[in-house]
Amino acid sequence: MAKLVVENVSKVYEFNGNRVEALKNINLEIEENEFFTVMGPSGCGKTTLLRIIAGLENPTTGRVLLDGREVKGPGADRGVVFQQYTLMPWRTVLKNVTFGLELKGIPKKEREEIAKKFIEMVGLKGFENAYPHQLSGGMQQRVAIARTLANDPEVVLMDEPFAALDAQTRAILQNELLKIWEKDKKTVFFVTHSIDEAIYLSDRVAIMTARPGRIKDIIEIDLERPRDKNSVEFLEYRKKIVNILKEEVLKTIKRLT
Ligand code: ADP
Ligand code: MG
Repeated sequence: MAKLVVENVSKVYEFNGNRVEALKNINLEIEENEFFTVMGPSGCGKTTLLRIIAGLENPTTGRVLLDGREVKGPGADRGVVFQQYTLMPWRTVLKNVTFGLELKGIPKKEREEIAKKFIEMVGLKGFENAYPHQLSGGMQQRVAIARTLANDPEVVLMDEPFAALDAQTRAILQNELLKIWEKDKKTVFFVTHSIDEAIYLSDRVAIMTARPGRIKDIIEIDLERPRDKNSVEFLEYRKKIVNILKEEVLKTIKRLT
C-alpha cells in the first residue's frame, strides 16, 4: 500500500458569506521513499493540500491516510517546513533544533547530539549558539530544515522551502536535501514554483489546475541522479511541464485582470 494516500479530498473555505472552492477531488498515492512534488498556479490550493496532509486543516470531504491510518491532526510522523522562516527568535540555533526532541522527552545530552548532527548536515556547524537574528535568511531556513529533520519524521512536507533564497543558496540546499533524502529514505511531499527545482529533485511532479485545484497531470521524472539541468532530457521535461502549466497560469491571470 502507498505510504500516503489522499482520497477524494475537497476543500471549501467559507468566510463572511464568501465561498472559495480551494481543492476539488484530489486523489494521490505517494509511495514510501518517494520524492513527490506539486506545482500549480498561485492560489490553486497547494498550501491548502499540504496543510491538510499535515493535519493542520480539515478537508471538507475526503480523507488522508498515512500507512493506512486516517490523519486526524498534526503528528510527529509528519514534519513541515514552511516557506517563511518560523524559528523561535529567543532560542539559539541549537535550542531551536532541539525543540521537538525536548517535547518528546529526549534527554538533554542525547537531543543536543542529534541536533548537532543535523546542524552540521545543513552546513551550519559553528553557529549552534547564534540567535536567528544573527543569521541570513538562507541560514535561518537551513535551521528550520534541520529542526524538522532532527525530529525524524517519516514524511517531510515542504511548502516552497527555498523560494525566498538566492539562486546559489537554493542550489546548495537542493543538493543537501537530496543527500538527506537518499540517506535517511524519507518520503517527501514538496511544493515549488520552480520547474527546474521540481525536475532536479523529484521522482514525480504533479501539476494542479487553476482554482479549484485538481490534479491535471502527473509526470514521472525518469532521470538518473545527480541530474544535469542542461541535458537534453532535462530540457524536454522542462518544455513538457511549461506547456501544462501555461494553460493554468493563463486561466489564473485572466481571472485577475
Ligand atoms: P497556493 O498555495 O496554491 O498558492 P492556497 O492553498 O494558499 O494556494 O490557497 C488556495 C485558495 O484558498 C486561495 O484562493 C486562497 O485565497 C484560499 N484560502 C486559503 N486559505 C484560506 C483561509 N484560511 N480562508 C479562506 N480562504 C483561504
Ligand atoms: Mg502556497
